[in-house]
Amino acid sequence: MTDQVNILGPSSEHVALTLLLNHQDLIMLVATFGGMLVLLMWERVWPRRHSPDLPISRWWNNWLLGYLNFAIILWLLRLVEQSSWFAALRPEQSLLEHMHPALALLLLLFIVEGITYALHRLFHVSPLLWRFHAVHHLDTEVDVTTSHRHHIVEVLATTLIVMSIIFLLNVPAVIVMFVALLRLMIALMSHSNLDLPESVDRRLRWFIVTPDFHRLHHSSDPRHTNSNYGAVFPWFDYLFNTVSTVPYKEQRHMQLGLEYLRGRRDSRLDQLLLLPFVWKRRALPI
Ligand SMILES: [Zn+2]
Repeated sequence: MTDQVNILGPSSEHVALTLLLNHQDLIMLVATFGGMLVLLMWERVWPRRHSPDLPISRWWNNWLLGYLNFAIILWLLRLVEQSSWFAALRPEQSLLEHMHPALALLLLLFIVEGITYALHRLFHVSPLLWRFHAVHHLDTEVDVTTSHRHHIVEVLATTLIVMSIIFLLNVPAVIVMFVALLRLMIALMSHSNLDLPESVDRRLRWFIVTPDFHRLHHSSDPRHTNSNYGAVFPWFDYLFNTVSTVPYKEQRHMQLGLEYLRGRRDSRLDQLLLLPFVWKRRALPI
């Protein structure tokens, strides 16, 4: 067993879990690529919103931005994991260690969702943070590739805060990996252009964020942009009264993206990376 596995807690001692943990980067990469390819094909067969052309240029820029973020985050996480300084800071006791794994997983999903819900709202209300989050919102269509379109500063800030809390709770690594995988899968699905029947969507959205629920967050109408903040569960939106809805048919025709920054050039990789730093010259806040 490697040093990497020994620091991860008792649940990692099982051989299968050890294998999973030692290949978690590969698993995340395959889940990201594989999940996206499946949903891309599904979207073309049963699209919620029809577009005659393949948006190759949009996809290409979203993929490049997403995999740039993916590489930087994985590199930083492995650096932290191998650091003896961080290992010394890790608390000895874990609050979740003695729980049933399924309960620990649900609890961590709930905790992470609460943190990301609060951070998401913060990125909408702060003019400075909005410059970075706008990179995600200025996609003029929303499909599974949009889930990858985030500015690296937003990804770094969110990862730093979420991972710090997970680190302080000393959550077993296998629980962290399954939570990351589940969140990734639901984020891919909720950004997809899948055509779910109205009755299915109506029932599902009580439990998870559906594509229609999240697509409304990408509406160019600010009343809807500033609503439906949940990433995995819609419960915090229900709790804090930030849910908005439109008639089922309207989802097919509503304008997505922002009222401003709708040009083809605005979605180019270099422009997406530079946008927050040249904001005053290019756009007004929401
Ligand atoms: Zn948002």
